Amino acid sequence: MTTAAAVADFRTYPLICAPSGVQSLADRINLEWADGRISPFHHLWLRDNCPCDRCVYSVTREQVFEIVDTPDDLKPTATHIDNDGCLLIDWPDGHHSRFDPGWLRAHAYDDVSRAERLAGIPQSHLWRSDLQIPVFEYTVLMNDNSALLQWLLAVRDIGLTQVRGVPTDPGSLKLIAQRISFIRESNFGVLFNVQSKADADSNAYTAFNLPLHTDLPTRELQPGLQFLHCLVNDAEGGESIFVDGFAIADALRSEDPKAFQALCEIPVEFRNKDRHSDYRCLAPIIALDALGRVAEIRMANFLRGAFDTSVEQMPRLYRAYRRFIAMSRESRFRVMHRLNPGELWCFDNRRTLHARNAFDPATGARHFQGCYIDRDELLSRILVLQR
Ligand SMILES: [Zn+2]
Repeated sequence: MTTAAAVADFRTYPLICAPSGVQSLADRINLEWADGRISPFHHLWLRDNCPCDRCVYSVTREQVFEIVDTPDDLKPTATHIDNDGCLLIDWPDGHHSRFDPGWLRAHAYDDVSRAERLAGIPQSHLWRSDLQIPVFEYTVLMNDNSALLQWLLAVRDIGLTQVRGVPTDPGSLKLIAQRISFIRESNFGVLFNVQSKADADSNAYTAFNLPLHTDLPTRELQPGLQFLHCLVNDAEGGESIFVDGFAIADALRSEDPKAFQALCEIPVEFRNKDRHSDYRCLAPIIALDALGRVAEIRMANFLRGAFDTSVEQMPRLYRAYRRFIAMSRESRFRVMHRLNPGELWCFDNRRTLHARNAFDPATGARHFQGCYIDRDELLSRILVLQR
């Protein structure tokens, strides 16, 4: 059963369990559920989350009420549960709140409910050299939203996917990228062309081998998703290599915790410059999220500035940096694959490091196109597709 969307949200919340009673305390109520769970809700929290159309503008579904406009010892004059299982609250100023039980259960902050929510947060599936790369078909993704969702979940959780059957006309990458969202432009264009050029403004545009890296570590926000679409691949060499940066960070955390700590703490500058631009970003190589999980890897040896840290920290930084790169070269972590025309990579650029073997332009043409989309767009698209 799904309760009515009597809440200021674009989702509905399943009625997992009905409230069975409510008990009033000095600064909160205890809501009792039919399964025995007891969820405390503070009076201020309840008033703050009133979903009525005076507190939340029904068009935008954003709050217009501000909790600071109530006394801090606010207390209901009455509370009870109605026949639909909704929690009704009367406030001293005559305001009434009505809370949907599905919504309350989904937002309860007793220890058990919070632990359940934490366990429900999507987990990254860490991978090593034995990864079976998830493969998707272009025409299916273009026409079927449930297949699209499966692809996006793989990008989110595994961070490396391949799409086959993509038209090889220049620019066709745009169509599939835009199935997710708008493309993030950079100084290299909306789409960038990976070809060797005499006047290259990055080592990417040469035939050199490119060591494992993330793209644009020179920006405060590295692009979340990277696409690389193969149009022509007649040259010898140029295989793509990937490692899961989260898996390496995870291994480093257990095998060499001091090195892990150093890479989380000591910032490193990355730079990219040409005649018209000069991008710089100073940040640690490993970033953690609010829960202490590895959330981002920032790495491109060819874009790195001179280390600038204290005399005491310098040996610590070199030891950790060398250790991380040495690990990324270990075969246990590496996946290598040669991309054929009509195939593309879509990977999490803030997680999955990519490399390219050197190729020989004398043996044939090689032309890839690429683009970026931010991680926020991916996550938003997933949530909307899941509604
Ligand atoms: Zn209200």
